[in-house]
Amino acid sequence: METLSVPAKQATPLMQQYLSVKERYPEEILFFRLGDFYEMFYEDAMRAAPLLEVALTQRQSVPMCGIPYHAMTTYISKLIKAGISVAIAEQLEDPKKTKGMVKRDVVRVVTPGTLVEDELLPSKANNFLVSIAVLPSLKGKPSKWALAAADVSTGKLWVGEVDNDPHWNELKSHLATLSPSEILFLGEAHSILGQLNTGRAVIRLEPLLPSSQRGQKVETLIDQVTGAIHRYLERDHADVVKSLGKPQALPMVSGNTLFLDETAVRHLELVQSADPGKAGPTLISVIDQCVTPLGSRLMRWWLLHPSRDLETVRSRHNQVEDVLENSVARSELRSTLQGVADIERISVRTQAGTVSPRDLEALRHSLGRLPKVREIISSNVSLGDLATEITVPEDLERVLHQQLSDTPPAKLIDGGVIREGVSGELDDLRALRRSGKKWIAEMEAAEREKTGIGSLKVGYNDVFGYYIEVSKTNISKVPLDWIRKQTLANGERYITPALKEQEEKILGAEERIRELEARLYAELIHQVAAFGPTLAKVASGVAHLDVISALAEVAGTQGYVRPQLVASDELSIQAGWHPVIAKQMGRDRFIPNDLDLKSNENRISIITGPNMAGKSTFLRQNALIVILAQMGSFVPAESATIGLVDKIFTRIGASDRLAQGQSTFMVEMQEVATLIQNCSQQSLLILDEVGRGTSTYDGVSIAWAVIEHLSKLGPRTLFATHYFELTQLEGRLPGVFNAHATAKEWTGSDGRKQVVFLYQILPGPADRSYGIHVAEMAGVPQVCIEKAREILRHLESGDHRLSLEKGSRAGTQQLELFADHPVLAELRSLQVETLTPLEALNHLARLKGAL
Ligand code: ADP
Ligand code: MG
Repeated sequence: METLSVPAKQATPLMQQYLSVKERYPEEILFFRLGDFYEMFYEDAMRAAPLLEVALTQRQSVPMCGIPYHAMTTYISKLIKAGISVAIAEQLEDPKKTKGMVKRDVVRVVTPGTLVEDELLPSKANNFLVSIAVLPSLKGKPSKWALAAADVSTGKLWVGEVDNDPHWNELKSHLATLSPSEILFLGEAHSILGQLNTGRAVIRLEPLLPSSQRGQKVETLIDQVTGAIHRYLERDHADVVKSLGKPQALPMVSGNTLFLDETAVRHLELVQSADPGKAGPTLISVIDQCVTPLGSRLMRWWLLHPSRDLETVRSRHNQVEDVLENSVARSELRSTLQGVADIERISVRTQAGTVSPRDLEALRHSLGRLPKVREIISSNVSLGDLATEITVPEDLERVLHQQLSDTPPAKLIDGGVIREGVSGELDDLRALRRSGKKWIAEMEAAEREKTGIGSLKVGYNDVFGYYIEVSKTNISKVPLDWIRKQTLANGERYITPALKEQEEKILGAEERIRELEARLYAELIHQVAAFGPTLAKVASGVAHLDVISALAEVAGTQGYVRPQLVASDELSIQAGWHPVIAKQMGRDRFIPNDLDLKSNENRISIITGPNMAGKSTFLRQNALIVILAQMGSFVPAESATIGLVDKIFTRIGASDRLAQGQSTFMVEMQEVATLIQNCSQQSLLILDEVGRGTSTYDGVSIAWAVIEHLSKLGPRTLFATHYFELTQLEGRLPGVFNAHATAKEWTGSDGRKQVVFLYQILPGPADRSYGIHVAEMAGVPQVCIEKAREILRHLESGDHRLSLEKGSRAGTQQLELFADHPVLAELRSLQVETLTPLEALNHLARLKGAL
């Protein structure tokens, strides 16, 4: 590295100081404070300049770039977005009072997982720093892991451990729902978990605590992960660690929440489009009608951690119903909540001592709105309890009202934060400053009169202090005893001994005002910080109310109904719709559909039908309805009875994901394996075209075997497939029944046949010939269509039905039906010159599989 190749002895004292600080922060970009700028040098400058879009310069062949100190946050955000952390080195002494070089050192390291600044944080989502420790399975004992997730911006700390998670299935689900922005892997965790999808997170490797008891008890793993978070924060983020609350149990681990597996979170597009690069609509974008950031965060949390506790769910439904049925109070409640600021994060910044005067003013204003909120809900049966939760102690209100001025500035340094009457000393100093300024104003007026110079004016700058400015044309009128201080292009600046005397008075007062205000402000922060736990409670009450009223708003405006939650394994939905797709295309254009899963007869629905007929949409809408119901929301349907679901798994056939470049079939099969190992009778399974990633016979065989297995395990299952053979399972396996997405054949005016999708899901298997109609519609030559119909007739008439239960290679006899081996036919039709290498490889793999 070039940094190291510069011998410290040759560097100037300032550069020596820089290098000694930089040595301790090799990976971060070091913002080195020099006067009004943060400067970057060497590789840091070369790396940062293009990202920050600032000029890279050189001084004595040292590359450097800089940014003005007051715009720091904007620049930091650019680096954080690029996944780069920033170490901020400040001047630790006042340069004016220091002889020689000012001391400088790093006061804070800003990393993606330790942000507290509103400008850098997503307001509607938590921002997690996660630590993970694992004990791999040893001598037959199952593997264990523990995880801690800290959001230092809200003071939340979640911890949990899982004893037996052989395929890291639960861990993956946590990573998907927490979506951490920084992960500390302890000890060997990273090498063991290397294949995990960590999304956008910055990864750090940290040692395990050198604890003697490590690894002996399960609790020590939890100690490890919590300890790691604290150590990490204390090392470089000292001010934020204070705000961390007591650790709470991660919801899924405690067993009270609906488990969403990693692929379900992604595939159902709950909070993010399944296509990583795309910003498509998501369920959260439809239901998040919250009016405060607190509410939006809680809503997201509920959505990703729906409840499995009947009482919790019913109580939320009661509350939504109450707000929904009283629409006047709803709009009043929502407009009152709208003015409530992010109390949670402000309170945390108060704990950390970084709260701004504007923050405190926002807090005071927000607390001032709560009495009205309480009034609106206090007479309500289901919400009344929340009224006590959002009660603000009078002491806190008094502190804020009596000490904070009416319109405090954004920054303490701008002055005027503390109200008159709080400190006699402060009031005196302000009076002194006022009288000095008044003297100057009077002097200005008097001198204008005396000299007859109408344009004469008194000004101020940092170098000369107060001065009297006179334009060139009037210089002859200037009294002889004024002292000339500066010559300008079109005038002169003067001072007088009396003016300097007042100046000293004013500046002296100002400096003392600054010091005194800083001290009083620190005391004020301290007093407010003491209310931390109360404010946390108020914040959670406000968030809860906001979510409930937002859910009521959604239910009211979009026609959702209250679902009936029961403790059975029923799942019956009348006229349900997909909340996101229907909203996009317009409710009236979306065809609603029923689902009726009940006990033993109807548990596994095999859904067939042509491509694009609405199978996947139907599958997803039902999963979304269950999730909405269990998070406490009403649901997009005419009516719904939902037996509580414990886990939702979704699997999509591999070929649907070719675009994402994953090693498809293997991944698909691994996912199927974990699903079979982890689902229970209370689970809901969404299987979409599973088995598609391999040759037909392979695929049918696997799909068949999986369904047969599931029919024994008993989870409620929706299985969409283009393998028509699977429709034979109805009546053969317990609980399996057929449904199909309907399409209608249509003969156009030109005499050509067309297929019209009706998007209705009806009982029974699909008519299998639609595929050929679709091919015809798409313009496949008529000879091929005729041939296809002929082959189909053969297949349907012959005694060739698959009998996979014997485990035979069912394909061989059917192949004789074809005049030509299908692989040869396909090879002939391949247009090799138009294929990309990837497509060619895929074709080759499939052809080989079909042999
Ligand atoms: P499949 O899985 O059967 O290939 P999809 O579920 O992907 O079909 O649906 C294809 C398209 O059809 C969707 O993108 C949507 O635009 C439309 N669609 C699906 N279901 C409905 C419905 N119930 N009402 C109206 N349009 C629908
Ligand atoms: Mg589909």
